[in-house]
Amino acid sequence: MKINSLFGTGKAVFSFEVFPPKKDSPIESVYGKLEEICALRPDFISVTYGAGGSGAHSRTCEIASKIKRDFHVESVAHLTCVNSTREMIDETLEDFKRNGIENILALRGDYVEGVEPQTDFRYASELCAYIRERGDFDLSGACYPESHVDSASDVEDVLNLKKKVDAGARHLISQLFFDNALFYRFLERTEIAGIDVPIEAGIMPVTNKRQIERMVSLCGASLPPKFTKMMQKYESKPEALRDAGIAYAVEQIVDLLSNGVDGIHLYTMNNPYVAEKITRAVETLL
Ligand code: FAD
Repeated sequence: MKINSLFGTGKAVFSFEVFPPKKDSPIESVYGKLEEICALRPDFISVTYGAGGSGAHSRTCEIASKIKRDFHVESVAHLTCVNSTREMIDETLEDFKRNGIENILALRGDYVEGVEPQTDFRYASELCAYIRERGDFDLSGACYPESHVDSASDVEDVLNLKKKVDAGARHLISQLFFDNALFYRFLERTEIAGIDVPIEAGIMPVTNKRQIERMVSLCGASLPPKFTKMMQKYESKPEALRDAGIAYAVEQIVDLLSNGVDGIHLYTMNNPYVAEKITRAVETLL
């Protein structure tokens, strides 16, 4: 199923993101958690893509195809291009096709320290245009409520986002954010720029302090004072921090749904407990 068909039905889309295990762990090590996460019946699950290079796609492909084939939830495979040649992308697309994958989140990817980037694709929009010519995939793209860290301004960022949509991204998934007001301002910019595809809000529940500090340093999301206070108060009590993180995410989602967002994309961090708590809290509101 092409995930584009999930939007515009009057019901907000509710999707999850999972990641493959690290290279030194067997792929089967995540199957139990995936099965529990799939049992929550999200509209689709997207599977992240490793740092890139030859063979990087295989775990993403295997997990995305397992989610669809064995756990009966539609999947989206992430695909980055910054470390791939055209031939490597061709090989990946063939593999995706062979494994029944119909949906791709097309990304540039981050530059890896010490790795010279490839030059066939400079931006996600170039990857979108290339894939669109080569196969019957439904394409999604990433977007950034606080603008991408490489962008010189919010205007430049949204104009580049428009290029990605024009190149074939039919649906956007946002970077995580903790302040809904920033997301609403971003939606206004996309409207002004003429971006008219559905945009899902990316929500990451905090489950531990280290994880959030790492994510925030990578993506530059700002932390509202009430969020920082929560982390400070519960940082030495892991269960309390986890529960406060779940409550914070639920509050964000309720507000987003009340404001009519197209969808919620939950960064599950492969944690079935957290995914279940949040799903149960919001499933009647979608
Ligand atoms: P782009 O859309 O190419 O944008 C990158 C920068 O280039 C932006 O500053 C943009 O404004 C600028 N730009 C774009 N087009 C042009 C143009 N034509 N001319 C000039 N400038 C331009 N990373 C992974 O490695 N694996 C994953 O699985 C993964 N999943 C992600 C999922 C989501 C929902 C999100 C939000 C991010 C994900 N990332 C992932 C991280 C992502 O790869 C990085 O944020 C990366 O730095 C940018 O990727 P992009 O596809 O948004 O790039």
